[in-house]
Amino acid sequence: MIDEKQISELVRNVLNGLGGAAPEVTSAPAAAVESGRRQLGVFDTMEEALEAVSKAYAMFRNYNKEQRENIISEIRKLTHAEAEILGRLGVEDTKMGNAYHKMLKHHLVADKTPGTEDLETRALSGDRGLTLIEQAPHGIIGAITPSTNPSETIICNSIGMLAAGNGVVFNPHPHAKVISRYAVDLVNRAVLAAGGPENIVCTVANPTMETSNKMVGSPLVKMLVATGGPGVVKMLLSSGKKAIGAGAGNPPVVVDDTADIAKAGKDIIDGCTFDNNLPCIAEKEVFVMRNVADELIHYMVKNGSYLLKGEMIDKLVQTVLVDVPPKNPGDKPKKVINKDWVGRDAKKILAAIGIEAKDDIRCIICETEFSHPFVQTELMMPILPIVRCETFDDCVEMAVKAEHGNRHSAHLHSKNVDHMTKYAKAICTTIFVKNAPSYAGIGFNSEGHTTFTIAGPTGEGLTSARTFTRQRRCVLVDSLSIV
Ligand code: NAD
Repeated sequence: MIDEKQISELVRNVLNGLGGAAPEVTSAPAAAVESGRRQLGVFDTMEEALEAVSKAYAMFRNYNKEQRENIISEIRKLTHAEAEILGRLGVEDTKMGNAYHKMLKHHLVADKTPGTEDLETRALSGDRGLTLIEQAPHGIIGAITPSTNPSETIICNSIGMLAAGNGVVFNPHPHAKVISRYAVDLVNRAVLAAGGPENIVCTVANPTMETSNKMVGSPLVKMLVATGGPGVVKMLLSSGKKAIGAGAGNPPVVVDDTADIAKAGKDIIDGCTFDNNLPCIAEKEVFVMRNVADELIHYMVKNGSYLLKGEMIDKLVQTVLVDVPPKNPGDKPKKVINKDWVGRDAKKILAAIGIEAKDDIRCIICETEFSHPFVQTELMMPILPIVRCETFDDCVEMAVKAEHGNRHSAHLHSKNVDHMTKYAKAICTTIFVKNAPSYAGIGFNSEGHTTFTIAGPTGEGLTSARTFTRQRRCVLVDSLSIV
């Protein structure tokens, strides 16, 4: 086991080392998974998982803050120690993303997800006594997690939810079940190491829509948290229970002519290619003022981008998007992403359209019109469309439309403070990053805590332990002072 000093050093090193092509990660995750041991907290049925977590919660509800913090400290240690395995296994299981970047994401979760210190009690005292407003647990939370950041979300949610005194049952994405089981087992190993109850975090071995419905409908589950696309958020919000929805984004980047263009070119490519564009906060389309567009493209190419032109752009559209037939006669066919290409390496995507790119290529860029499906669709691939605009106001107008009202994330490269204010007010997103890669928005190489559940639709913002609490008022009246 590595000690805390080694952990801080490791985190500093990995955070400073980000940018440019990702190094290879070489541990052997399969060995860690195939040890033959029953994975802790993993059950065949949702009924068994719910029964186990409710038994564990009967004990856990009596744990004080110090005991919960000890558990969280163990989760942090184990996540740091196994970040490399989690990164490799995540890619192996989902066939998406980049193992090195996934490893960094786990270090980030272990280091910057708030624990019990996030909980605050307010006290009101006066002539008539004392009133406390406490943040109490909901009980058992049902959480749905995505395929894009599967174990990152499970570990991050577990830290916040346990810090707040809850138990959790996860229904992970079916395409990420191996890595999700590993993450639930890891959290349980940490809980046991700190003397906590087994199964306070549970899941099912084979999650399906049916297990999800059972979880949502169970009277044992008092709160629901959805991290994923629009379908799952809508489903949870119509459940009739207290629910938090962390939904889809399509984050636009605006670049004006006051920006440091060389830095903007590098920052945008670093952010866009992080974990092959899987994070919901990652740059998805660029609106740049015409007078600096060529320079921006030059620096993007210098930082590992392949500039695609002409009919090759159409060929790429045919490969990574698929047509959905119109629902009503007269409607245009809609294009949606071909899931086979989500989170894939830029080089592999280029190879599919017959282009053999050099090893340092990590992004595909192309100039398009505003209406192009690459601009309008949340691709989650290292493909970045660029739209030239006449004025800053044009950039903002298009960015707002391309964000589709998700109120998720938006980014800007500019040194003009008035531009910052104007764009921020117009787009009104939960995350707004200026002059940095998008991952600065979740505390990566920036100030502020991290989360992998960004609740735009329901307004909690970057979730943390306090998000998973309910307010409780505790009143003591000093009868002697009442006259
Ligand atoms: P997804 O929506 O396909 O799946 C998420 C989870 O919901 C899975 O467990 C899936 O099985 C389940 N699910 C989907 N539709 C459902 C329904 N109707 N009823 C019940 N369960 C349902 O998401 P994904 O492809 O894994 O992740 C990518 C999406 O999630 C992107 O749109 C991304 O922007 C978004 N996302 C948002 C955040 C955030 O914090 N806001 C974080 C990560 C991902």
